[in-house]
Amino acid sequence: MKPNRILGFGLAAAMLGSLASGAASAQEQRFVSVGTGGVTGVYYPVGGAICRLMNQNRRETGIRCSVESTGGSVFNVNAIKGGDLEFGVAQSDVQYNAFKGEGPFKEGGAHEKLRSVFSLHAEPLTVVARKDAGIASFDDLKGKRVNIGNPGSGQRALMDLLIASKGWTNADFAVASELAPAEQSAQLCDNNIDAFAYTVGHPAGAIQEATTTCDSVIVPVEGEVVDKLIADHPYYFKATIPGGMYRGTDSDVNTFGVGATVVTSADVPDDVVRAFVDAVFKDFDAFKALHPALANLTPESMVNQGNSAPMHPGAEAYYKEKGWLK
Ligand code: GLU
Repeated sequence: MKPNRILGFGLAAAMLGSLASGAASAQEQRFVSVGTGGVTGVYYPVGGAICRLMNQNRRETGIRCSVESTGGSVFNVNAIKGGDLEFGVAQSDVQYNAFKGEGPFKEGGAHEKLRSVFSLHAEPLTVVARKDAGIASFDDLKGKRVNIGNPGSGQRALMDLLIASKGWTNADFAVASELAPAEQSAQLCDNNIDAFAYTVGHPAGAIQEATTTCDSVIVPVEGEVVDKLIADHPYYFKATIPGGMYRGTDSDVNTFGVGATVVTSADVPDDVVRAFVDAVFKDFDAFKALHPALANLTPESMVNQGNSAPMHPGAEAYYKEKGWLK
């Protein structure tokens, strides 16, 4: 049985309340979970940081936050829809498509209760190839062993779109593997794949692992097809991966990317969402210091960019009070 999570709170809380000696305190304690991604990505450490900040206020809020490693963006919005998660991190394209019932969400239909909370760091599509694989551009991936991402991840949704936009299919690769982010770097360095594609903020543990364990390079993703994707969709933009950040890649690499965002459900109470955003913004410098990918964030950009689903009212009221909403 689920613990007394925010969604479906009533029954479990009542049962716990009757079991516990301190019935009142058991009833006051509420739990929320934040769905993230693989442990070597950026979502997981950032989700952990948010929960840590939120749990510092537990005495006043009565809310305990826990972070979950998951398959990624698409998994997270589906789990929020199913009531299994209260919050999740999701790429801005995934947020958009989930709310509208487009792309990977066509079959399941629009997720009308999806609500945005704020946006986070940029996530460039990051293609890492073995140095000895002869891959200098995205088009060189044809005929190679490529990890296109686990189902449920944001990179998989993006790769499916890019592959289709190029007029390719998975049969154009010698192998199209579906490894999770935590596995892909070791598989690259063990020479079981030639390259992997990962939509992720920087610096990311998985990219550090892949570029320090063996000789590998970050490959540009650009050209007409990418330009058209950017022109046709509000949530794609040109991005660069800074030179010198990873061993083997000394100059900036051109690619394109999305924004990371945090989403929730309209069913999550306003005071819970307010406690979540307050944990992040109350000591914003402390939040930004928790991961280098967060260093350039401002409250105004987080509130006004990348959020396509309606803002959750608990967050919206907070931002209005602060005067951040444009
Ligand atoms: N962008 C990836 C996804 O949506 C996750 C990246 C990360 O874990 O930092 O699945």
